[in-house]
Amino acid sequence: MNKPTILTGDRPTGPLHLGHYVGSLRQRVALQHDHQQYVLIADLQGLTDNGSNPQKIHDNIPEVLADYLAAGIDPRLTTICLQSALPALAELTVLYMNIVTVARVERNPTVKNEIAQKGFARSLPVGFMVYPISQAADITAFKAGLVPVGDDQLPMIEQTNEIVHKMNSLLSTPVLRHCQAMLSQTSRLPGIDGNAKMSKSLGNTLTLSASEEEIHKAVCAMYTDPNHLRVSDPGCVEGNVVFTYLDAFHPDTAKVAAMKTHYQQGGLGDRVCKNELETCLQELIAPMRERRNTFIQDKGALMAILREGSERAREVTQATLDEVKRGLGLPMLG
Ligand code: ATP
Ligand code: MG
Repeated sequence: MNKPTILTGDRPTGPLHLGHYVGSLRQRVALQHDHQQYVLIADLQGLTDNGSNPQKIHDNIPEVLADYLAAGIDPRLTTICLQSALPALAELTVLYMNIVTVARVERNPTVKNEIAQKGFARSLPVGFMVYPISQAADITAFKAGLVPVGDDQLPMIEQTNEIVHKMNSLLSTPVLRHCQAMLSQTSRLPGIDGNAKMSKSLGNTLTLSASEEEIHKAVCAMYTDPNHLRVSDPGCVEGNVVFTYLDAFHPDTAKVAAMKTHYQQGGLGDRVCKNELETCLQELIAPMRERRNTFIQDKGALMAILREGSERAREVTQATLDEVKRGLGLPMLG
């Protein structure tokens, strides 16, 4: 029986962080055993808002790959590939651009939000505006049915399915398949500063390679309940970043539930909660940091993994492009 296909990816704009881990990476590690999984390092998408700084994207490709391996993505089970090594993705993007209106692209709430955050105004790169179309090309080229992502990606999945519907209706026989987002329990991890989303662009991350000291400092500075002044005061757990993180990362859910009750009643101090969180984050990150430090030493081996995965992915994506071109009636001269 064919295994269900997964496609996910990350922009090589910096090392991966805890948001990636709970939002998507942890699921990918679990799913790779019984799915046909492709993971794409989206360097072209990374360039859409780093067009003047290609070095940054170049340098972060092995960093992201080392993070994948450290988190438990196994290249024997998952095909890890590089977006710029798969020309079919760019060709599909060009074809899809003709069936998406400017008005539709402008309506994407995640892109709108990112444009505002980045303060682009009139300097907005065309490529950035249309990156959801290229993401649709990525997903559909692999004929992925499942996409494990954070909730910022829901508008991209919706837009992808619209493209699938429209494109299939133009083809002599339907070729593209609809996809479904797969959200984790923590579909949006807030930043260590309490901002709604941990994101490389916002500089509020705790990376999977954070040092002991960085983890300690981040937890110490974390936002709790501003009205919880004395230990004996009843505290609020909603919107309290320490509890959001305990929910996301602490393996003992019963213990966290008991801590919440105690905190809400009064008598449980922020320091104790932060110590509990720090211990759990130190235990989670330390082994990943160590594995990553080993992997990053051998960039040649990392690039060999990427080359091998990209070769496999090139065949799959080219086959889909050929089917689409044929379905559109474009002459196949090659
Ligand atoms: P950038 O700021 O450069 O866009 P990013 O931190 O948003 O970087 P991406 O590479 O855009 O990271 O995201 C890769 C994947 O990780 C996506 O599926 C995204 O939904 C998920 N993800 C990123 N940040 C979070 C988060 N804070 N919580 C849950 N999922 C997240
Ligand atoms: Mg992002």
